[in-house]
Amino acid sequence: MKAQFAQLYHHIKGQETFVQYYASVHYLTCADCLRHHGEISLPPAERPPWHPGCRCHLLEFPLEQLQYYHQQGARMRERAAQELSRRRLFRQACRQLLHHPLEAEERFRQAIDSEIYLEEIEALCREQAEALRHHPQTARRLRDLFIGAYRYKHDLDKYHFIPEGLCVEWRQEGLSRIKECFGAVLTG
Ligand SMILES: [Zn+2]
Repeated sequence: MKAQFAQLYHHIKGQETFVQYYASVHYLTCADCLRHHGEISLPPAERPPWHPGCRCHLLEFPLEQLQYYHQQGARMRERAAQELSRRRLFRQACRQLLHHPLEAEERFRQAIDSEIYLEEIEALCREQAEALRHHPQTARRLRDLFIGAYRYKHDLDKYHFIPEGLCVEWRQEGLSRIKECFGAVLTG
């Protein structure tokens, strides 16, 4: 990390203003934006959005703050990598559901370890309804797994700025939505 920083510092010596790429890390953020999340460079000639659906922002900062942004950047890149891997696991799990339900279950478990998105669970129940009906026990276990994870979703740091009352409301809505989605699959 120190060597990296020295290298970076050497590279940009003499420059005064820099930018850090900031993409909101979310299930909809495209992989391209995520790959730049946390990156530091000189201000580019063109400002975002760089493509349809681009969620990148540029945070400008002066040379004196380089070390701070560099440290932030390391955390941001970690977070972005985590989201990419979460997605990969979730997609693999969806594909495995019909023929390898136990493996799929394990992958879902790993995926939701970092974050859980209601929209993806809704899509899962819609698109994999057949597979879920085919394995009702797996479906029930997944429902309980998602419910368990969703209960704690809003305890993550990134939700700390959101009023408690709103989180409680989101939690209730989310939990009933998950039950509804699986209810429709299991009784349909
Ligand atoms: Zn972007």
